[in-house]
Amino acid sequence: MPTPATPFSFSTATRPAKGEVLIVPLAADPPPAMQLLRRVDQECGGAVGNLVRVAGVGAEAGQMQHTAGTAGYRRVLLVSLGPAAGITAALLRRIAGSVGDWLLQQGVERAALWIDGLVKTQVERPVAAWADGMVLGGFRFNRHKSAAPAVGRCRIGLAAGEAARKVGRAERVSEAVALAQSVNYARSLCHEPGNIIQPSSLAKEARRLAREWKLKCTVFGPADLKKMKMGGLIAVGQGAADKPCLIRLDYRGAPRSRQSTALIGKAVTFDTGGYSLKPKDGLESMKFDKCGGMAVLGIMHAAAALKLRCNLTALVPAAENAVSGEAYRPGDIITMMSGKTVEIISADAEGRLILADALTYAQKHCKPTRMINFATLTGGVVISLGRAAAGLMGNNDELAADLEESGRRSGERLWRLPLWDEYRDLIRGNDSDIRNSATRREAHAIVGGMFLKEFVDASTPWAHLDIAGTAINESKTAATGYGVRLIVDYLRRHVEGRR
Ligand SMILES: [Zn+2]
Repeated sequence: MPTPATPFSFSTATRPAKGEVLIVPLAADPPPAMQLLRRVDQECGGAVGNLVRVAGVGAEAGQMQHTAGTAGYRRVLLVSLGPAAGITAALLRRIAGSVGDWLLQQGVERAALWIDGLVKTQVERPVAAWADGMVLGGFRFNRHKSAAPAVGRCRIGLAAGEAARKVGRAERVSEAVALAQSVNYARSLCHEPGNIIQPSSLAKEARRLAREWKLKCTVFGPADLKKMKMGGLIAVGQGAADKPCLIRLDYRGAPRSRQSTALIGKAVTFDTGGYSLKPKDGLESMKFDKCGGMAVLGIMHAAAALKLRCNLTALVPAAENAVSGEAYRPGDIITMMSGKTVEIISADAEGRLILADALTYAQKHCKPTRMINFATLTGGVVISLGRAAAGLMGNNDELAADLEESGRRSGERLWRLPLWDEYRDLIRGNDSDIRNSATRREAHAIVGGMFLKEFVDASTPWAHLDIAGTAINESKTAATGYGVRLIVDYLRRHVEGRR
């Protein structure tokens, strides 16, 4: 399943690029300087100045007005960025996404982006944010439509007179596009349904990804899992016809560094809830219970595409949580890879079981400098934080603070929840060491984190990201690719270049 092609490509030119449409993003308040308007009007025969004089830039961010142009452009699209003080990278991405939609709807094949209004904002690398937003906004999942609506292609020239080439290079626009495409790769995998992506076909995809980007790939099948005594992963996947596996990918971008980061992502390819069966409404969205694992594959894709100077090990425990005569049951007591015994209270609290074994594997076989895991783990985190932030838990304040900072920078925000000892009572075992779920609903997201903490040595910095709210949109119909941009920012700022 190759990376989906993006409809947008970007080029820089010393001369203003020509095209069908000139896109002119401008802040509304304070109103654009006369000098700026005069410069852009030279390119389009006064069209922007006329629009601004008649109706203003448009008070609301994202508001678009268009008019016929002259000179090199058939049309001019004036896009309001809203009040200058409120312009953020996230806002630019959102606006660029809807401009991209408009271009595709209009069938525009060549457009030019006037970047002077963007570079005047307080946003760091605003043109890159714009390109990022267009590529993310251009994502479509059409693979399974027999008559897929034709998606056009649109070349965007960065037009800013003399400065365009410099800006294109300084802002690394091509890197922003590569990163956004890695996000789209993760999203496309998330969207694949449970009959297409199962543990074995996911392993096949990981091997393909490894070939494409020269990563090392190892897949541990059922016999290996048994040998390694991965009781959690085996139990969760044993009810399905397609048996579970652990996928490992290694990327070495800093061969002389001894540091390495383990990225662990939950991939429950479909979650029925097992014998703790989920209600039927919205069950189809349970194909998205693999988003954590797909984010990890997206990060590996990005690391290779951007040639990040760091070492990464991706671990993706993959299982389908099915109902059958072989499925595990509530009340079962299983022995995890670490040796701890777990009583199953809910067969629907399966993600923590497969993650726990992967965390044990990472510490035993990879000795990572740090571990970060991603999982659509609990409905509780959605109740707590909605879709505006993922829940962050862990055992290391520095790692947590660095991730929070990258969350702010990338717009993929995190909010920390505590893992205090008081919560341990909620998972204390009766006939076993611990139980996989509390019998009460309180502190639901934290209970997930407390369970994982049981399998993490305090000396290994570890962060747990519960992305159940952020990985998919509100209507549960689209994957966001949450985590890829967050972690790439983290790796660039805090891991690259470390020995
Ligand atoms: Zn579940």
